[in-house]
Amino acid sequence: MENDEIIEALELTGKLMDLHNENPFKSKAYTNAAFRLNKLRYDFSNKSQNDIEQIEGLGKGITSKIYGLMTTGDLPELRDLVQKTPAGVIDMLGVKGLGPKKVRQLWQELQVESIGELLYACNENRLVTLKGFGEKTQLQVKHSIEFKLGNKNKFHYAALEQAVFNLADEIKKAEEDLMIGVVGEMGRKCEVIESVDILIAGKVDADASTVDAHTPLPVNYHFCSKDEFGYHMVALTAVAEHLDAIGFKDLQSRNFSTQEEVYAALKLQYIEPELREGLKETELARNNAIPKLIAFDDLKGSLHNHTTYSDGVHSLKEMGDHCQSLGYEYFGVCDHRKTAFYANGLSIERVMQQQEEIDGLNKNYKNFRILKGIESDILGDGSLDYPNDVLKTFDLVVASVHSNLKMNEEKATARLIKAIENPYTSILGHPTGRLLLARNGYPIDHKKVIDACAANGVHMELNAHPYRLDIDWRWIPYCIEKGVMISINPDAHHKDAFHDMYFGTCIARKGMLDKKNCLNALTLTELLTKLKK
Ligand SMILES: [Zn+2]
Ligand SMILES: [Zn+2]
Repeated sequence: MENDEIIEALELTGKLMDLHNENPFKSKAYTNAAFRLNKLRYDFSNKSQNDIEQIEGLGKGITSKIYGLMTTGDLPELRDLVQKTPAGVIDMLGVKGLGPKKVRQLWQELQVESIGELLYACNENRLVTLKGFGEKTQLQVKHSIEFKLGNKNKFHYAALEQAVFNLADEIKKAEEDLMIGVVGEMGRKCEVIESVDILIAGKVDADASTVDAHTPLPVNYHFCSKDEFGYHMVALTAVAEHLDAIGFKDLQSRNFSTQEEVYAALKLQYIEPELREGLKETELARNNAIPKLIAFDDLKGSLHNHTTYSDGVHSLKEMGDHCQSLGYEYFGVCDHRKTAFYANGLSIERVMQQQEEIDGLNKNYKNFRILKGIESDILGDGSLDYPNDVLKTFDLVVASVHSNLKMNEEKATARLIKAIENPYTSILGHPTGRLLLARNGYPIDHKKVIDACAANGVHMELNAHPYRLDIDWRWIPYCIEKGVMISINPDAHHKDAFHDMYFGTCIARKGMLDKKNCLNALTLTELLTKLKK
């Protein structure tokens, strides 16, 4: 072992002891040893036990541990500690601004077990509920994680879109004559992006080639002539399976300036870039059976949002007013229920108070309405956390799982189905609990869950937060087939988060959602009729 490795192992042992609230004198011995060794300006990793014992400031007990570690590469105390700590929690010790005590609070009190979950907890404003944490710490933690994740070369679509669009605009501005297309994963609007690809048609002059790409990922540029722009757009946007299915290589010419011409030449209905995944799109296009995909403009309102009644940033009125100013017809408030200790959840009294406030506000709104909802926790046994006489006072009930996420498929499926069968459940919230790039959801039998929604008149949430996008878009066609409507919900904890519905719409298009199967593309009147059923 080298100096650095030895020092790191000792340091980690000290931190993990503090994390597990062990005797502070013991942990200090390790932390102090790491500190002392770090000051040495020579290679001690090959010294004798006697030499180690001579190092100033090291206690007697610790020197034999250090020597053992040096010679065997093993420190039994560290091994035990690592074994009883989730790997993600150990990662959290590396986040700037978090010491072992704070990590312990996050782990024990908020059940946060990975850096990705921690980032999401920052976004939901959860850290400030802990003793000793303030908004400043929360922001610092958020920034340092974003930096860490940024180095891993995988990004949420939303983290890249603006930068990539800006880049395309800049190039266009520098040389108006060029044709620019965003292709590859970005062109298909995939939920997670590993590669940014841009197609440029025309003769690139000096100005355009000096445009700086301020994107977190390096950009791959592709070039072609203008009369082949459509051909290359299709070639570079689609996955190989799609190109095979449409018979792309049999095309007699490359002379297609638009993508529409390519599909027309292949005698197929036009297939939008988002759909070029090599699934069933070609078969459907052959029968002219691809529906008109939903657009962001089709949405008429926003269901499932939070306010200061639970863990949101803005008041009920601020959120309502803002939602109306965006041109929507309705705003569903779904604050957390009181068992949601992590989110300052609502007691029954506070629910009643909120409903009164909603009634008051609704009197003053014209052509706009706040809907009384709740995000009710699905408890371990699948029951909801309110008695029926309270549940019936809501216009809508979003039922979601927030705790005890470690379940096998059988248990998770049964838990969800029991909640779906509750007569007051209107929407199943973020059905798998996944956080993209951070945590896999619990496994569920999607078909059984969707079948249960169909049987009980429950709608399916497509949680539009760019980290969630849950239900996965690959299951939307099955929902539609079974008549289960999709609700594109921003789960907004902040005014600006209504915009997440845009990302929800992007991903819903990949699932071939049309507006007639989207719950919040209904008008207020249509929606209220639907929710009553
Ligand atoms: Zn939720
Ligand atoms: Zn929520």
